[in-house]
Amino acid sequence: MKSATFALAAAALAAGGATAQERFITIGTGGQTGVYYVVGQSICRLVNRETAQHGLRCTAPSTGGSIANINAIKAGDMDMGVAQSDWQYHAYNGSADYEGDAFEDLRAVFSVHPEPFTVVARADSEIETFEDLQGKRVNVGNPGSGQRATMEIVLDAMGWSMDDFSLASELRPAEQSAALGDNRVDAIVYTVGHPNGSIQEATSTVDARLVDVNNDAIQQLIEENPYYASATIPGGMYAGNDEDTETFGVKATFVTSAEVPDDVVYEVVSAVFDNFDRFKSLHPAFENLQPEDMVSEGLSAPLHPGAERYYREQGWIE
Ligand code: GLU
Repeated sequence: MKSATFALAAAALAAGGATAQERFITIGTGGQTGVYYVVGQSICRLVNRETAQHGLRCTAPSTGGSIANINAIKAGDMDMGVAQSDWQYHAYNGSADYEGDAFEDLRAVFSVHPEPFTVVARADSEIETFEDLQGKRVNVGNPGSGQRATMEIVLDAMGWSMDDFSLASELRPAEQSAALGDNRVDAIVYTVGHPNGSIQEATSTVDARLVDVNNDAIQQLIEENPYYASATIPGGMYAGNDEDTETFGVKATFVTSAEVPDDVVYEVVSAVFDNFDRFKSLHPAFENLQPEDMVSEGLSAPLHPGAERYYREQGWIE
C-alpha cells in the first residue's frame, strides 16, 4: 500500500512537479491598476511559497471587481475574492442588488484597506463638487465593479439617474484614466484604496482634481448604513492635489464561501498573518493595517470557521 502511494506521488512529481494532494485555488480581484489586484497577487505569492507543505496553488486573475467576485464565488467558479464591505453586506443580507437573492453561504475572512468613493475631474471641466457632475460626461464604471454599484446607490439617494449625465460611460478602471486624459470624459468614479496606479495615471497625464463628495444625501447614507463612513483622501498623494478631499467610503474585504474547506481557508489566512510585515510592504495602501481591526471591522457575513480558528489561536477573537 505504502509503496503504491509513493509510486503515484513519484509519478505525479515526474509528470509536472505536482504532489498527489495539490489543490488549485482562485482569488477574484479587480482591474490591474487598482489595489484588489495587488491584494490577490500578494496573498497568492505568500500562499505559493509554502505549496510544498500544504499543496495549495493560488492564482489571482484580474476581474470586473466586487460584484463579479461575489457572484463567481456564489457560482463556485472562484474560491475567494475581494469585495467592498457594502456589497458583502448586501449579498449576505439579500438587500439592494441582492434583494430576493441572498448569498447565505458567503463568509468573511478579513477586511483590508479603506476605500474612499473617489471622483476625479478634469480641471477644465469646472467640476468642484459632486453636484457639478450634472450634465457632464462621467465614467460610472463597468457593470460588476463595486464603484458602479455604489454609484447607483448614490444617484438614487440624490434623486438622480444616469440620464442626469450627458454621457454615462462604462469603462473599466484600466481604461478610465486614459479616457480622462484624452478628454473623452469629464470625470471618473472609482471606489479604491490610495494611493493607486489608476488615479496616479489620471492626475499625471492631465490637470485633474479630486472632487468632494459630502452633500446632505451622502451624510444621510452614512447615518443610515453601518457599512459607510466619512472618509478623507489626504492631500499630497497625487500631482496637483495638495488639499484633503472629503468623501465617504467603505472597506475592502476578503471573502469566501462556506463550501470552501476549513483547512484551505486556515492555510491562506496563516500565509498572510504569519508573514504580515511582508504582506504590508507589498502596497502603500496596506501601510496602516492592524490584524485586530482586520478581523473585526467591515465584516457583516459570519467569519469562515477556518479563519476563526487562526484568529482564536492568536487571541484576536474570543
Ligand atoms: N472597489 C472596486 C470594486 O469593488 C475595486 C478597487 C480595486 O480594484 O482596488 O470593484
